[in-house]
Amino acid sequence: MNGTEGQEKRALQELRKELLEGGYIAHETASGITRQIIGQGLGSLTDNQRDVYRWYIELLFENDEVLCRRCQSPITDLPMNERYMLIRTGYCPLCDYRMGKND
Ligand SMILES: [Zn+2]
Repeated sequence: MNGTEGQEKRALQELRKELLEGGYIAHETASGITRQIIGQGLGSLTDNQRDVYRWYIELLFENDEVLCRRCQSPITDLPMNERYMLIRTGYCPLCDYRMGKND
């Protein structure tokens, strides 16, 4: 029953790592908080840190202005585990797959 939920949590965790390592989190505080989440978990954050986390990281997933560069699908049309790919590559999984085939 909790399989999907666990999968989403893992995807989120991976995404945080990639955002951090890829330098997408320019804001110094957000970057430090992300390191803390990866190292010590979400529960270790203070209320203020949680707010920063929401604004700089989580809201990327909920922002319908984040679009696939090829088909222009908004990120909010994708399931959570695919939003991860769009943020990372700039393309939804379908476009990523199609472009890979054309190469
Ligand atoms: Zn697309």
